[in-house]
Amino acid sequence: MKNVTVIGSGTMGNGIAHVFAQNNHSVALVDISQPALDKALATIAKNLDRQVAKGSITEADKTSTLNNIKTFTKIEEGVANADLVVEAATENVEIKLKIFKQLDEICPAKTILASNTSSISITKIASVTKRADKVIGMHFMNPVPVMKLVEVIRGYSTSDEVTGSIMKMSSALGKVPVEVNDYPGFVANKILMPMINEAIITLYEGVAGVNEIDTVMKLGMAHPMGPLQLADFIGLDVCLNIMRVLQDGFGNPKYAPCPLLVNMVTAGHLGMKSGKGFYEYTAGSKDLVLAERFRKKEMA
Ligand code: NAD
Repeated sequence: MKNVTVIGSGTMGNGIAHVFAQNNHSVALVDISQPALDKALATIAKNLDRQVAKGSITEADKTSTLNNIKTFTKIEEGVANADLVVEAATENVEIKLKIFKQLDEICPAKTILASNTSSISITKIASVTKRADKVIGMHFMNPVPVMKLVEVIRGYSTSDEVTGSIMKMSSALGKVPVEVNDYPGFVANKILMPMINEAIITLYEGVAGVNEIDTVMKLGMAHPMGPLQLADFIGLDVCLNIMRVLQDGFGNPKYAPCPLLVNMVTAGHLGMKSGKGFYEYTAGSKDLVLAERFRKKEMA
């Protein structure tokens, strides 16, 4: 699988393109937005510089990685010769179904179509194509060049052969692939999101404050980041969205999102990206302080 097309050049797409290009694949990076593509190339170059500075790659590796990436704003130009497409566009079911329907029509018959979705059913995505056996989830973690895991999600009709190729390909990228079945949240978010939601419920019920909850989980469970800080990092809207997927998919009240999470998202407190969540963030800096309302020990 020499030729890889990555659809979407945001947070995940640029990292996925970086990793494939660094492993000698020819990468076509596609986005509907030219500024997003320009930003992605700048981010990849900056991240490669960091690797050069650390001595993990050479200046020549950096140049060849960048030379392996071409950018496109028209999807049909980017997939002409693709062996594998990895879709990492916006997490919106209509957008993804439209992309996969089009990919199925314009890609060569051999092309495997993978999605990096965090929560949308692979079986549903596959259902708009005529090649459900060649549709699979390839769930990379953020930041992609650093994180080792790839959750490989088999849709209801994904073939053994395609699953085997994607497992092998992920290992060749230096990642550790884990094969899972296609149910809401897969494995990563079926476990992580209820834990984050439970941390928010713990705050909402007044059992403890933000600092206390995060400190218990960091020092007591050896988590590198507390669950409330992690929720801010992921985005509270994303967390809410995934809880809704679990709630709808399983029909079990244990997945109901905490009312405090719903309120915060409605108020536009989305975490790091909006500058306010459980903590407050200064633009362009990694510093964070407890958000004002939680400093006052108000819970709900
Ligand atoms: P993002 O918003 O940073 O980037 C999405 C990009 O997709 C944007 O540049 C947008 O212009 C582009 N796009 C939208 N519609 C398009 C189309 N029709 N064709 C081509 N490009 C299009 O999003 P992200 O955080 O990189 O997430 C991408 C995917 O990865 C989502 O499915 C998300 O669930 C998944 N994911 C995200 C994370 C994370 O931590 N951010 C982790 C794992 C998986």
